[in-house]
Amino acid sequence: MKFRNFKLVGYVIFGRGAFNQLDEILAPQRKGDAPMIFFVDQFFKDKPAFTGRIPLQGKDKVVFIDVTHEPKTKYVDQLRDELKAEFGQVSGIIGIGGGSTMDMAKAVSLMMTNPGSSADYQGWDLVKQPGVYKAGIPTLSGTGAEVSRTTVLTGPTRKLGMNSDYTPFDQIVLDPELIKDAPINQRFYTAMDCYIHCVESLEGTYLNAFSRSYGEKALELCQEIFLKKPHWDDDADEKLMMASYAGGMSIAYSQVGVAHAVSYGLSYVLGTHHGVGNCIVFDKLEEFYPQGVKEFKEMVQRHNVTIPQNITKGMSAADVDKMIDVSLSLAPLWENALGKDWQQQMTRERLRDLYAKL
Ligand code: NAD
Ligand code: ZN
Repeated sequence: MKFRNFKLVGYVIFGRGAFNQLDEILAPQRKGDAPMIFFVDQFFKDKPAFTGRIPLQGKDKVVFIDVTHEPKTKYVDQLRDELKAEFGQVSGIIGIGGGSTMDMAKAVSLMMTNPGSSADYQGWDLVKQPGVYKAGIPTLSGTGAEVSRTTVLTGPTRKLGMNSDYTPFDQIVLDPELIKDAPINQRFYTAMDCYIHCVESLEGTYLNAFSRSYGEKALELCQEIFLKKPHWDDDADEKLMMASYAGGMSIAYSQVGVAHAVSYGLSYVLGTHHGVGNCIVFDKLEEFYPQGVKEFKEMVQRHNVTIPQNITKGMSAADVDKMIDVSLSLAPLWENALGKDWQQQMTRERLRDLYAKL
């Protein structure tokens, strides 16, 4: 047995208002007059009360990130080219937003120092040089992108992360005030990404005590927030932020499972976003995760959230085949979920039937 020796995030600051310390956190990371580049979710474009708090100095620049589509390798390469053309080198990249914006920050940081296209690095341990300094500041909680060693990118031939020891952030700023105003449906979809990470990790064959400890805690926080609290409050924001962190730590040493494997196919072919895609799939996974799905349905009902239905209706056979190909290519996810003989269990026909239910 070979154990994974993985790299964690460098520095973590947690607390209501922690964002106000960003200026002093970044000061030692500034290299001469090379600017800090702030990747900010486009949601904040017309929110000067927030963007005015970004500690800009000298040639620093805010780049609003278009997250209409989840990050693509083309977009990563384009931003890298633009920054190189404008500044040569930069002191760092700070991603402020949901999982998409944080992933863009990680990917562009790596591509500032690694040659070629980000598509060349989709896979495991292909990145050879550390990127420029990078920090992540979530404004939505659930994906665990703030702690993970991957950045999920859609490339010309696949949807796959740049998984490497250079991928984790050097610094994360966890300020629960920043997730406070997220709209209810979006907050729920992203939070359920965390809930599903926990179920898939805890029910998986890769589970060990490390993953279990974080996974159980994150699951308990999700249950408290979504099943016990009479209404959403500041405490819920704080707990959700920590659930996302712990959920991410849980899958660092295990893996996700069926919902993610199936949802990646949806996302590749239909462009379905990760959070809502996971919910669409998980809703139909009673046979794999009976207890988790039962609880999930209670949460959906309690929070009056809509889970889209019939999204694969009318798709061409070729598109369905493509989804099946993408999904079945994710061997570690299936192996974690179903065991070493997963290929006997998850045949193309069984997966086709599952997609037809969504
Ligand atoms: P997101 O980043 O895609 O954003 C979803 C929507 O919420 C966007 O419209 C965005 O503008 C908006 N938004 C962000 N913050 C807001 C706020 N405070 N208030 C209101 N609206 C806000 O959503 P997400 O669910 O956080 O992230 C999903 C992405 O994360 C996907 O691209 C997925 O591939 C990636 N992901 C990465 C990892 C990883 O380990 N790197 C893990 C899971 C998911
Ligand atoms: Zn996920």
